Amino acid sequence: MNEDRELVAPCGMNCRYCEAHLLQMRGKTKNRYRGCAGCRPRNKNCAFIKKRCEKLHKQEIDFCYECEVFPCDNLVKLEERYQKRGWDCSFIGNNERIREIGLDAFIEEQKQHFTCPKCGGDICIHSGKCFDCSPSG
Ligand SMILES: [Zn+2]
Repeated sequence: MNEDRELVAPCGMNCRYCEAHLLQMRGKTKNRYRGCAGCRPRNKNCAFIKKRCEKLHKQEIDFCYECEVFPCDNLVKLEERYQKRGWDCSFIGNNERIREIGLDAFIEEQKQHFTCPKCGGDICIHSGKCFDCSPSG
């Protein structure tokens, strides 16, 4: 599994564009937030889903969409939290997209969506700004 594939979490989060991961990759973790290697690379309890999900915990499924109760209450709650804050990630939408077009095509779509047109850097899911050329990134 290559690095980009490894960075798409079971819940549909693309860790590559998560603020905590962007901070870690650029060695900026002394700021406000802790860094994160990404859900899969870290392979610990997911802050949101994994610790509450037996199937993910036992690695019976690779993505939430593979589950017969998808989308479960935990995922719906997470989705609502993100939509409310205007963060640019739909966990349910991403899972459906991965199911529809496959993981590699999904990663390519995400790359187009989150690559800064000005500098080619990474746009952050949480701030909506380019992490590399925006001053308050
Ligand atoms: Zn930029």
